[in-house]
Amino acid sequence: ESEESTFRTRQARSLELTREAREYLAGGVASSRQSTAPHPFWVDRGVGSRIWDQDGNEFVDLHGGHGAMLVGHSHPAIVRAGAERLGLGTHFGQPVPDAIVVARNLSERFGLPQWRFNSSGTEATHDAVRLMRAITGRRILLKTEGGYHGHHESVLVSLSNSGDELGPVSRPASPLSGAGVLREFADWTRVVPWNDLGVLESVLEECGDDVAGIIVEPILMNFGMVRPDPGYLEGVRALTRRYGCLLAYDEVKSGLVVDPGGATALLGVRPDIVCLAKAFGGGIACGAIGGTSEVGEFIASGKYLQIGTFNGNPLHMAMSRAALTEVLTPQAYATTYARTESLARTLGELLSASGRPGYVDSIGAKGMITFAPHRVATYRDFLSVNQEIGRLHWLFQHNRGVFMPPWGAGQPWLVSVQHTDEDLDLVAGNFEELVARMPK
Ligand code: PLP
Repeated sequence: ESEESTFRTRQARSLELTREAREYLAGGVASSRQSTAPHPFWVDRGVGSRIWDQDGNEFVDLHGGHGAMLVGHSHPAIVRAGAERLGLGTHFGQPVPDAIVVARNLSERFGLPQWRFNSSGTEATHDAVRLMRAITGRRILLKTEGGYHGHHESVLVSLSNSGDELGPVSRPASPLSGAGVLREFADWTRVVPWNDLGVLESVLEECGDDVAGIIVEPILMNFGMVRPDPGYLEGVRALTRRYGCLLAYDEVKSGLVVDPGGATALLGVRPDIVCLAKAFGGGIACGAIGGTSEVGEFIASGKYLQIGTFNGNPLHMAMSRAALTEVLTPQAYATTYARTESLARTLGELLSASGRPGYVDSIGAKGMITFAPHRVATYRDFLSVNQEIGRLHWLFQHNRGVFMPPWGAGQPWLVSVQHTDEDLDLVAGNFEELVARMPK
């Protein structure tokens, strides 16, 4: 309670703006995930690793704009590229040479030769799903129980548990996030538990000849940060080959962040299609799909309409080009990963010394504190995470100058290439104070 009242005192202007906004913005925010409890806080600007709110408070930003800001805020190379492009015109509906630079760079990172662009993670997974159906001529999509892949109908399915653990049932994500998703869409999306090859195989035995493909985050980042068990992705790949269906990786969150070539390069199991968004835009709305040469040929043949007014627009391409070639360099990755790992180690030591259940993990620039009695391997395990401590931790950090990702949705934090040791010392210092104050 006292943390909540500190929040309210520090965010007086934000509360005023929220009230004012309600008159014109539904719920007082521009998008549903912009609300942070007890009320949204309104931002003024961001530079480097830090952001400032409308009350003049300064924060170390570990939220990273829903995990998009790997380049940090207002990076000089990105500002230069964006400003140059603004002066040259931002949209023509025709390609610009930067698109070749970006696609080549992504090909080298992900080992997939053919690319197309769009404008968001949702568009990327939408393209991947429709493409898999178009290429195979089959109807069923498989996805992971609890896995989030954006807000279109085929994937807003079974974001929570339903049915038996070994025989989960597909249903529109509900009650909040599945409103408007027809039962009929859920019927064509079958759900399987993560890390369970046995269930996947039995579903494929039952209806594999009508399965177009499976979409997975190769490292889950939407109910905590959950790695595949050893051999799991290899098994998924082998089963998709056996049943003639395709494999799409949703690397909207993990791509460029867990490794310069995403989980695709890190784990070494190549999908047919990879979906990207968030970090590769250098801070602007972005999206992409990468595919094998077969996938590229299918698109090139004109049999699939991969289309969008702003696809590959010059501003997106210029900012992505600067991010990929000037900012996200091997040196930047090395220092960022070392910092993230060191923060996770420190937090993990503090947590285990406190005797509280939980663990801390990091992969590349992503990290996560999970307040659970055991490691989370599936969505059902995620339900054992203590959200109350998570919420308190979020507020505690916020009141002491650190903006963390929302606690309940199980989102990992992101360390940008512009964070410093001093930034991360603040995070660790706050955490130390919190665990010391919490009753045993
Ligand atoms: N896929 C994953 C794994 C995501 O985490 C998200 C968003 O958080 C999306 C897709 C949707 O991306 P967007 O919000 O850009 O539409």
